[in-house]
Amino acid sequence: MDCPHCHRLLYSRQHPRCGHCGGLLPEELRLATHEIDAIKAEIREIDARRAKAKEKEQEEREAARRRNDGAGGGGGLGTGFG
Ligand SMILES: [Zn+2]
Repeated sequence: MDCPHCHRLLYSRQHPRCGHCGGLLPEELRLATHEIDAIKAEIREIDARRAKAKEKEQEEREAARRRNDGAGGGGGLGTGFG
């Protein structure tokens, strides 16, 4: 979507004015308030999901580390048998 004034790419349609030339954008180029709200809610949701995934990844990494600590210790248990 281009700005009708400077014909540069509009990087955000959430603002009533062009970010390049400051020209007022016609209503058909702008998003409706409820659409902007929907986008914001979506972004918030994605952020929350990403944060949660990161948390989980860290947890899993920690769990894997603990598992390795227990199993790969070099075997002090069965050595006195022979
Ligand atoms: Zn412009």
